[in-house]
Amino acid sequence: MSNKEQTLSIIKPDAVERNLDNEIKEMFRNKGFEIVNEKKIQIEKSEAEKFYKVHETKPFYNDLCTYLSSGPIIVMILEKEDAILANRELMGSTNPKDAKEGTIREKYGISIDKNSVHGSDSVENAKIEIDFFFKD
Ligand code: UDP
Ligand code: MG
Repeated sequence: MSNKEQTLSIIKPDAVERNLDNEIKEMFRNKGFEIVNEKKIQIEKSEAEKFYKVHETKPFYNDLCTYLSSGPIIVMILEKEDAILANRELMGSTNPKDAKEGTIREKYGISIDKNSVHGSDSVENAKIEIDFFFKD
């Protein structure tokens, strides 16, 4: 049965800064993702705090929000069969050191905090995150 999904992807400041956006988008397209909407923006720290609210009790929360708001990011809606899981697979582990060969984080991630991309982790969060950036 067909299960076309949409997921939210973010190319984070460390990757935008190194001009890796086209190469990363090409990796998505090569895996069959369609980029159905995208925009390059810079967000306020208060918006990053909202976006990452699920992590508010974590020790890395403040640095994470400072980081995500530190420079331009590219937010994208990706569409494909089982897009949420497929994107998580293509991204690789949160820590680039543990990411499998051929994944985005293995190729481009610098460290656990500067790991180049974000991807929604569930159907429910994909909806919330897409609305967060694209509902006007
Ligand atoms: N993060 C961090 N230190 C950690 C764990 C996570 O800086 O020890 C950052 C990292 O940028 C990660 C984000 O917080 O991408 C969100 O963490 P999550 O566990 O949701 O990882 P992801 O879903 O991005 O793989
Ligand atoms: Mg996550």
